[in-house]
Amino acid sequence: MNEIERRMGELYGELARHSRLYYEKDAPIISDAEYDALLQELLKLERERPDLARLDSPTKRVGGAVLEKFEKVEHERPMLSLDNVFGAEELKGFADRVEAAGEAFVCEMKIDGLAVSLLYEDGVFVRGATRGDGRVGEDVTENLRTVKNLPLRLEPPVPGRLEVRGEVLIPRDQFAELNRTREENEESLFANPRSAAAGSLRQLDSKIAAARGLGIFLYYLADAEKLGIHRHSDALSWLAVRGLPVQEAWARCETLEEVEAFIEKWREKRYGLNYVTDGVVVKLDDIFLWEKLGATSHAPRWAVAFKYPPEEVFTRVLSIDVSVGRTGVLTPVANLEPVRLGGTTVQRAGLHNEDEARRKDVRVGDRVRVHKAGEIIPEVVGVDLDARTGAEVPFEMPEKCPACGSPAVRLPGEVAVRCLNRGSCPAQLKESLRYFASRGGMDIRGLGGKLAEQLIEKKIIGNLADIYALTAETLKSLERMGEKSAKNLAEAIEKSKKRPLSALLTALGIRFVGDKVADILAGHFGSMKALRGVSEEELALVDGIGPVIASSAAAFFRDKANQELLKRLEKNGVNMIGEVKIQQGWVFSGMTVVFTGELTSVARDEAVLRVKELGGKATGSVSAKTSLVVAGEKAGTKLEKAKKLGIRIINEAEFLEMLNKRVFKDSRPSSEVGGRVPS
Ligand code: NAD
Repeated sequence: MNEIERRMGELYGELARHSRLYYEKDAPIISDAEYDALLQELLKLERERPDLARLDSPTKRVGGAVLEKFEKVEHERPMLSLDNVFGAEELKGFADRVEAAGEAFVCEMKIDGLAVSLLYEDGVFVRGATRGDGRVGEDVTENLRTVKNLPLRLEPPVPGRLEVRGEVLIPRDQFAELNRTREENEESLFANPRSAAAGSLRQLDSKIAAARGLGIFLYYLADAEKLGIHRHSDALSWLAVRGLPVQEAWARCETLEEVEAFIEKWREKRYGLNYVTDGVVVKLDDIFLWEKLGATSHAPRWAVAFKYPPEEVFTRVLSIDVSVGRTGVLTPVANLEPVRLGGTTVQRAGLHNEDEARRKDVRVGDRVRVHKAGEIIPEVVGVDLDARTGAEVPFEMPEKCPACGSPAVRLPGEVAVRCLNRGSCPAQLKESLRYFASRGGMDIRGLGGKLAEQLIEKKIIGNLADIYALTAETLKSLERMGEKSAKNLAEAIEKSKKRPLSALLTALGIRFVGDKVADILAGHFGSMKALRGVSEEELALVDGIGPVIASSAAAFFRDKANQELLKRLEKNGVNMIGEVKIQQGWVFSGMTVVFTGELTSVARDEAVLRVKELGGKATGSVSAKTSLVVAGEKAGTKLEKAKKLGIRIINEAEFLEMLNKRVFKDSRPSSEVGGRVPS
C-alpha cells in the first residue's frame, strides 16, 4: 500500500468517526475547522487518485444515519449539503463554474443549526423532518411545533401542499444558559449551537425541546415556479409575507463584488445577531439555473458556502481565580487582559478543572491564544511558550474552599475538586439559589446572582425554603430594589409554587438530575411523596435512570437536611404532585409488538392501543426489530417468520397477563397520583 492509499484509509476512518459523533450523537470532539481541514485533505487526495475514492466517501455523502427512535420520512427531493469555499479565490472559482457573468446572486447568512423540511397542507403545518442522510430524515413534527417562531397556520393560507426548508437554531443566550446549567449538573457540554439545536430537536419528549427556546429561519421554497416565482429573492419575500420567518441578513447582489462586500459587511456584524452564523451562503438568484446546473450527490452546483475562518486572538493571563459552583465544584478561571473576540470583549476564560489547567499549563503572566468554542464560549487554546520569561506563576489548585475555607478535596475517581461544606458554604448556597430560581427550575424572574448574594450576606436566606418567606416588604429594603421590582419578584415567587414537579426536581439541583432526568422521575413516580421513600434499587429499575443517577438521587432523598427542606417547601405551598406519564418503565417500554391471527377476548384495535399506552409500539410486519409477537388463533406467515428470526412469541392469554401487570413496578396508591394511570 502506498502512502496516499494509507493516508486516505486513515482519513476515511477518522472522518467516519467524527461524523458519527457529530451527526448521530450531537457531540463532536473536534472543531468544525479541524474537521473541514481533514475533509479538504481527503478531497485533494481523491482528486489525485479518483480510483481510490470510496463510494461512501464523506465528500460524496450528506449528514449521518437516521436515529431509530424516530419515524422515518422520505424526502420528496434530496436535502443536500453545501460545498465550502474558504476565500475570495475559491469564491471566484464558483462564479466561473456557474458562468455567472450577468447573473445575480442572493447572499444569506449561514446559520449554525440543523436543516429541516416543513410540510403545510392548506396552510396548516402537518409534518416536519430533519435532513438525516439527505434522502431519509427523522419525523420531528411534535418538537417542531414547540419552535417559537414557526407558524402552525399560514396567514394568508396557501391552498394545497407546500414544502419549505430552513434551519432550526438555538439562540446565543439560550445556548450559553443551557451549557451553564449542564456544567452545573456535571453533564457533558454541547460543543456548539448546532449540536445543541440538534440535540434539542431530536428529543422524544417535546417538553424538553420546548424548554430550549429553539427558533427557525427558512431559506427554501419547493416548487417555487409552480407558484409563479422565478427568483430566489422573490421566494424569500414570498415566505416572509406569509409569516414564514426569514432571517434579516440577506441581500440580492448584482455582481461578485457585491457578494464580497456582503461577506465583508457581515464579518463582524454577524456577532450582533442572536444566533450563531459561520459563513455566508451564496446562491444564484435565477431558479431556472438551479434546474439547469443540478447537483452532485453531496451539494447543489448553484450555491456555495463561504466559511469565515474561526477567530483566535492573543492576550495575557492576569490572574487565575477559583470559583465555587452549586455542587461545591472548584473551577479555575483565567482573568485575561481584555481583548476583542467574536464581537465581544473577553476578560475571562474557564479552565474547566484541575487536570485541564495542568494539561494546558496556563500560568499567570502567560501569553495565551484564545478562541470562542462554538463561537460563543471563550476558551484558552494554548500557551505561547516562546513568550515565556520565567516570571510566570504556575497554577495550583487551592486546598481550601476560597469561599468558606473548608477543605477542598478530590474524591476518588472524580476530576473535580470539591468543597464538602454543603450545608453552609455561602458560594454553594448562592449558586443553588440562582439555579433554583432559573428558567428551567422554579422560574423566579428577578432572582439572579447579585440578589442571591445580598440575601445570603444579610442572612435573610440560609436555606432554599427561605425564599418562600420573602415578602415584598423585605425585598424592598434591599439595595438596588425598587417598589415595583420587589412587588414583581414577590409575585414571581408566589407563582413559582405552581411549577410542575419536574421543574421542582430540576431546581433542587440533585447531582446528575437535569431537566431530562427530572422529567423521567416526575413522570414515573408522579409525586414527591412517592419519590421520598424510593430506594436506590427501585430508582435503578426505571428506564433512563442509570446506577449513578439512582445512587445520587437516593442519597439526596435519604439526607435529613433535604427531607426537612422538602417538608418546608411543601408547607409553603410548593406543588409536589406531577402527572404520571406513559413512558419508560412500563411493561411494553421500548418494545415493538406485532399481532398475528385472531384475538378472541380483545379487539385488535384495543390491543394495539394498550400496547401504546404501556410504552410500546405496534407494527404490522415482523422484522429483526420486532421484540414480541402475539399469536392469536389461525396465525400464519408472520408467526412462521417470527419463529425463523427467533423472536419471542406469546399467546393471547399471556398477552392479557402482561396487560394486567401494567407496570413492572407501581407501588403508589393511586390517590397520591395527580395524573392519569392507565386502567
Ligand atoms: P454545512 O453545515 O457545511 O452546510 C450545509 C447546511 O447549511 C445545510 O444543510 C443547511 O442546514 C445549512 N444552512 C445554514 N444556513 C443556510 C442558508 N441560509 N441556506 C442554505 N443552507 C443553509 O454542511 P453539513 O453537511 O450540514 O455539515 C458539514 C459541516 O459539519 C462541515 O462544515 C463540518 O465542519 C461540520 N462537521 C463537523 C464535524 C466535527 O467533528 N466537528 C463532523 C462532521 C461535520
